Amino acid sequence: MLDKNKSIVLFSGGQDSSACLVWALNNYKEVQTIGFDYGQRHNVELKCRKALLKKLKSMPSDFTGTLTSDYILNLEEVKSISTSSLLNYQDIEILDNGIPNTFVPGRNLIFLNYAGIIAYQNNIQNIIGGMCETDFSGYPDCRNETIISMEKSLSLGMDENFKIETPLMFKSKADVWEVIKQAGGKKLIDIIVEESHTCYNGNRSNRFSWGYGCNSCPACELRIKGWNIFVENNPEFKI
Ligand code: ZN
Repeated sequence: MLDKNKSIVLFSGGQDSSACLVWALNNYKEVQTIGFDYGQRHNVELKCRKALLKKLKSMPSDFTGTLTSDYILNLEEVKSISTSSLLNYQDIEILDNGIPNTFVPGRNLIFLNYAGIIAYQNNIQNIIGGMCETDFSGYPDCRNETIISMEKSLSLGMDENFKIETPLMFKSKADVWEVIKQAGGKKLIDIIVEESHTCYNGNRSNRFSWGYGCNSCPACELRIKGWNIFVENNPEFKI
């Protein structure tokens, strides 16, 4: 039988999945993490996630849960069958179907399947993902309807009662910082600003008040916008 106190978080090292991770640490006794190497343009994200996990493990906190196993799965085959600009060196643009060419078709579906396999074997009921409809990039696999359908498919396909939790589904990027603040205050905000990675161009050399990035790609733009609103509402974070 699946354990309702156990969870596994899809953790990429980005702002959203970091918020999901700290949310999970306040909601479940045991938290495992899973990340994927699918041939991203830059492997910066994978390095950042490792550093972030290390810091979270070592910081004194009031979290109710404990971080345990971390998994990194190699899914590089995805690159050989996808033309996404997240995987290949091409300019980021909006395609005729209204979806940005950073979309990796089926990516979140694959991620959830792998998380489901680990969850099944470790009696984990809760799978946590940072999918979000609000600052919607147009990715159809971030829609709540897709997630509800995946929860049903995984449960039917493995004859279990999985729950997929998406705590950010209806939150803005500014709200995501609020989630982090509520989970661990300024100390946690500082760690996630410093260690999480968002930029599509893999830029870790320019440091801004909101973290590292190129300051101009769509992912940086969203992060900047969210941070500015958050700081407006929380002036103590203004530098
Ligand atoms: Zn950027």
